[in-house]
Amino acid sequence: RALPGDPDRGNAVREVRGALWSEVMPTPVLAPKLVAYSREMAAMLGFDDEAIASPGFAELFAGNRLLEGMRPYATNYGGHQFGQWAGQLGDGRAITLGTIAGRDRQPWELQLKGAGKTPYSRHADGRAVLRSSVREFLCSEAMHHLGIPTTRALSLVTTGDDVLRDMFYDGHPQLEPGAVVCRVAPSFLRFGHFELPAARGDIDLLRRLADFCIDRHFPHLQGSREQRYGEWFAEICRRSALMVAGWMRTGFVHGVLNTDNMSILGLTIDYGPYGWVDDYDPDFTPNTTDAQGRRYRYSWQPRVVYWNLVQLARALSPLFADAAPLQAGLDAFAATHDEAERATIAGKLGLAECRDSDLQLMIDLQAWMHAAEADMTIMFRTLSDHDAAALTVETFADAFYDDAKRIASTDALDAWLQRYRQRLADDPLDATVRRERMRAANPKYILRNWLTQRAIEQAQAGDPSGIHTLLEVMRRPYDDQPGREEFAGKRPEWARHRAGCSMLSCSS
Ligand code: AMP
Ligand code: MG
Ligand code: MG
Repeated sequence: RALPGDPDRGNAVREVRGALWSEVMPTPVLAPKLVAYSREMAAMLGFDDEAIASPGFAELFAGNRLLEGMRPYATNYGGHQFGQWAGQLGDGRAITLGTIAGRDRQPWELQLKGAGKTPYSRHADGRAVLRSSVREFLCSEAMHHLGIPTTRALSLVTTGDDVLRDMFYDGHPQLEPGAVVCRVAPSFLRFGHFELPAARGDIDLLRRLADFCIDRHFPHLQGSREQRYGEWFAEICRRSALMVAGWMRTGFVHGVLNTDNMSILGLTIDYGPYGWVDDYDPDFTPNTTDAQGRRYRYSWQPRVVYWNLVQLARALSPLFADAAPLQAGLDAFAATHDEAERATIAGKLGLAECRDSDLQLMIDLQAWMHAAEADMTIMFRTLSDHDAAALTVETFADAFYDDAKRIASTDALDAWLQRYRQRLADDPLDATVRRERMRAANPKYILRNWLTQRAIEQAQAGDPSGIHTLLEVMRRPYDDQPGREEFAGKRPEWARHRAGCSMLSCSS
């Protein structure tokens, strides 16, 4: 069905009180063109090859057409940004088309990102550029295949319209090609959806949203209403702990861990200026906006997620007679995080269990990687792929970014390997099982920033094949893929300080 030509589609920017969402139509674009899609998501949602190839598919997922029964809407949320309450924020450029049942019989919400203004667009244009859309599309699917809870992406469509963006490459405004990603998840509810009615004192709306969320997405929770609220919050805490543990294991840095970017389902959400650790650096943040404070640095992510959960607890507190269940939930975060951290260490080092002394073994290896400027992913994968008895500094030759630092760190690595071998001698796993476990914890391929940047630049020049190749590689991040060694290699020297390859702004 074609969209109405009526310019007044309810999109006028405004403050919305007493409501959790607004009906809003996508704003049509000039010339929708499908650039990439996820075959797993397409299959899940029942789109076959013919449907995908039809012009209607690109039109639908650019926001130019609707299917019968779709009543698009944008939701109303606030959030804490960089530690400060920011009031009403979104959905400033996300419009939900509807929710459909997947092959798994579960509900999947289809949401267009960049489909035009909504009542929540504030001073912005409601659009997204190809650059950031490629990043969101690829990383959503890469995270899924890495086994980390995440929202998904069905499609990436270019719009044929240009979008004005400032301050990216050279500090001057420039036109960039526009794009729309259709992202998919059981729900896009965020912490900020609960914080906003709480901040406005609209406890009735807060309660209705909590009940809706539990009924629809946590139906397994039993007991009285207040018991269910408590169990629900604890589950959000546990899921958030597992999510951030997945980030820490693979070197993912979200970059904008504000409460409006925290999913109530514990999914990684809102891929903006995210990045991946190359040479190990606990202080790495990809977000130029955050470069001074480094609030959202790699190593701080667990504590920032915890801080965000504390904000959620405060928002939900009017639903509770006393704070004990909320404190219990926060404690569940700490316990789940500790357990997950130990599982990560056991997996990455190939141990049957993580003992207290193994925590130090890992800390020392991390400190060494930092000092030696060694690539985190290559280090652990090399560790996985070699017999420990045969490991020497030379085995890790591909992991170093700086010769002088490599040479200066040789003795320290020798000493660490010595300790590691002693530890393995006291571990019951046999070599085959150990190797399999390590390979399952230590991906060979991650979505390195420079790889994505290269694919973006090719796509901007008209060739999207780099996106397709990268998507293929990231479908099997734990497998050796012969002929694709380049995608497993360290960041090339040209990319070290290049915009898009290490640092990114929020301007997307
Ligand atoms: P972020 O920090 O990227 O999660 O963005 C914060 C808020 O700004 C989000 O809730 C978005 O709705 C909004 N926003 C970001 N970019 C745009 C845009 N181009 N148009 C409208 N709203 C936007
Ligand atoms: Mg956001
Ligand atoms: Mg964003």
